[in-house]
Amino acid sequence: MPAPLLVPGLEWRDGAPWSRTHGDWYASRSGARAEREHVFLRGNGFTASDDSAPGRWHEHKHERARLTFGELGFGAGITFLCAWAAFRRHAAPGAQLDWVSVEHAPLDPADVRRAALGDPAMAELAPLVDALCAALPPRIPGIHRRALDGGRVRLTLLWGDVLDLLPEVEFSADAWCLDGFAPARNEAMWSEAAIAQVAAHAHAGTTVATYAAASAVGERLAAAGCEVRRVPGANGKREMIVGTVGAAGARAVPDAREIRATARAAAHAHVIRTLPPWFAIPAPCTDARRALVIGAGLAGASAARALAERGLAVTVLDAHGPASGASAAPRAVLAPHLASWQSPQTRIVAHAFLHARATLARIGAPFEPCGLLHPVPAEDAWGFEQAIADWGWPTDLLRVTDADDAALRAGTELVDRASPLGALWVADAGVTRPADTVRTLLGHPAIEVVTRASVVQLVRADGTWRAVTEDARTFDAPVAVVATAGIPGGTIDRMPEPLASDALPSVPFDCTRGQLSLLAFEDMHHVPRTVVSANGYVMPPVDGVTCTGATFERERLGVPASPHDDAVNLGHAERLLPVLASHSPERRGAWAGLRTAVHDHCPVAGPVVEHAAFAAAFARLAHGPLASAWPAAPVLPGLFATLAHGSRGTCTAMLAGELIADMVSGSPRCVGNSMLPAVLPQRFLVRDLRTAR
Ligand SMILES: Cc1cc2nc3c(=O)[nH]c(=O)nc-3n(C[C@H](O)[C@H](O)[C@H](O)COP(=O)(O)OP(=O)(O)OC[C@H]3O[C@@H](n4cnc5c(N)ncnc54)[C@H](O)[C@@H]3O)c2cc1C
Repeated sequence: MPAPLLVPGLEWRDGAPWSRTHGDWYASRSGARAEREHVFLRGNGFTASDDSAPGRWHEHKHERARLTFGELGFGAGITFLCAWAAFRRHAAPGAQLDWVSVEHAPLDPADVRRAALGDPAMAELAPLVDALCAALPPRIPGIHRRALDGGRVRLTLLWGDVLDLLPEVEFSADAWCLDGFAPARNEAMWSEAAIAQVAAHAHAGTTVATYAAASAVGERLAAAGCEVRRVPGANGKREMIVGTVGAAGARAVPDAREIRATARAAAHAHVIRTLPPWFAIPAPCTDARRALVIGAGLAGASAARALAERGLAVTVLDAHGPASGASAAPRAVLAPHLASWQSPQTRIVAHAFLHARATLARIGAPFEPCGLLHPVPAEDAWGFEQAIADWGWPTDLLRVTDADDAALRAGTELVDRASPLGALWVADAGVTRPADTVRTLLGHPAIEVVTRASVVQLVRADGTWRAVTEDARTFDAPVAVVATAGIPGGTIDRMPEPLASDALPSVPFDCTRGQLSLLAFEDMHHVPRTVVSANGYVMPPVDGVTCTGATFERERLGVPASPHDDAVNLGHAERLLPVLASHSPERRGAWAGLRTAVHDHCPVAGPVVEHAAFAAAFARLAHGPLASAWPAAPVLPGLFATLAHGSRGTCTAMLAGELIADMVSGSPRCVGNSMLPAVLPQRFLVRDLRTAR
């Protein structure tokens, strides 16, 4: 778990933001914009939005160029805002900007707005300030991805300690902005270990700029492989430091092993938590201009949207049409998975939930933010409180509340007064309409949807994937994403040799049938105005009709919706809300569908490995991870999967789509390296190889 966030200790002194914690200003009081543009843009060789020459933006003038900035200290986001404005002015329309920033004490959006607009010169950037403030993640530790400017600008915000979170994300910045508070007042941000992280996320030619002029900073940068220079600072300051990694005159850039050794010697540093070879992510498909996505449910639509926003032309093929599988559910609950213990699944779903909430708001998909109550027996409340503390969520978003407060929020009693229960309150949870979400995701000009295109073969030839449909139509692209929920017979398994007769045979897909019931109660006062959920759920009514569910069944997979299952759902509802038992509802409809999951309940998302070659390459894994010099994992180049979203697809599909797009484009990944193995398709095969005797 990442370390808890720090309270910013923000104070306004004469209208300017001051940090009590660090005893320093957030930005220069005599022109924050001019300072940021001078130090971090021009200091790194880029120009500002008002400059006529493009400077280093010129290197990124071509369409589909991708530029990555790293930043220590997001603060009020002023440096990012200045860079974003300059990028819009000088970079090509198709170019992409990745901005990775670490912040241990994130400010609230209202404070960001006030701090950013405190400098009158920032007034012309007000629309960008508004967009940033609307997108800022809550104060929850971890990795947060936010897309801006139609997705061409990606913010990867690492809320937490620099040494906890930077090692989690693999990227190589083109330019670094070192913007912690003054080195004497915020040692953690300027320590040898933190500078080692900057070097670990850089390549020869990466530039570094900081307003700091302390000799210790220059020495640490030089020791990490930077040619360091002192240049005039901003707003009359005598000096600041700039540098170039691996430039002539600098010490050779340390290789990963050397950095690791330095970091170990420093005893407090952590280098990038690289993935073991069997989970290594293949090189990005940076030359790809087109992609195929097979399946137009939540998973396929999310991947298609994320790829389209990276500038790829995407063709989505579906056997029927958009949202014709599980994603046709009339309504669905969007909530993190609530458990009093941590598991890879709870962590992934919590991360995915936050991402999905932000994405739905950004793309304008329907969402009712009604909150969710999860009844908790008194004896379990302590365990939940511990789990919440571990997650580090603020109590206005997630907390255990008592029975009276729960009843007040729901507008009805959750349980019999005789056995009062408390409840977990998840303020940001709510109800989505999956089919509308799918249509909104697919509504991007670079996405073409082909309906009645049942893919029966996926063949690789001459560096591209060819999808062949039942009626013999063909579609080609260098990147293909399989988003068919599971692997229906015939989709991949007819690939000709030598490309693996089965691409994902180790994935133990499992199907359950589920039914939702639409019910109208004569007296709707007893139907909750929040979601109430625990082994089944009741949603708030829409036009006098509530939605309750869902059944779980391994048999009768193909059976249509039935009154029997409505009775089962009503039973769930009455257990959650006993007051409903005295009101017999009118049945207003039902919907049944199939969930595809795997037994660890995490989705399957990432590159597809070549099964037979992978099993041969890692056959000795049972002897221990250090027993052999391992080859690179054999993957099927350009082939990705987003499958098995089970009963959490409204949460997990969007994060999985974004992750795949990161892998295709080579962007910093939105899922950290310690969490990634929990979703990669080969995890089951690795487990089998490890336990083989
Ligand atoms: C009863 C029920 C209730 C649920 N409630 C919730 C909830 O409250 N919250 C929540 O988060 N999740 C819920 N879910 C789960 C959620 O609906 C799924 O996780 C999600 O819809 C899965 O999306 P998907 O895109 O992976 O699969 P699907 O929506 O099934 O999409 C797969 C698509 O692939 C297409 N396809 C398949 N094979 C081929 C082929 N060979 N060629 C071309 N196209 C093909 C299909 O036509 C289909 O459109 C529920 C599911 C059910 C059944």
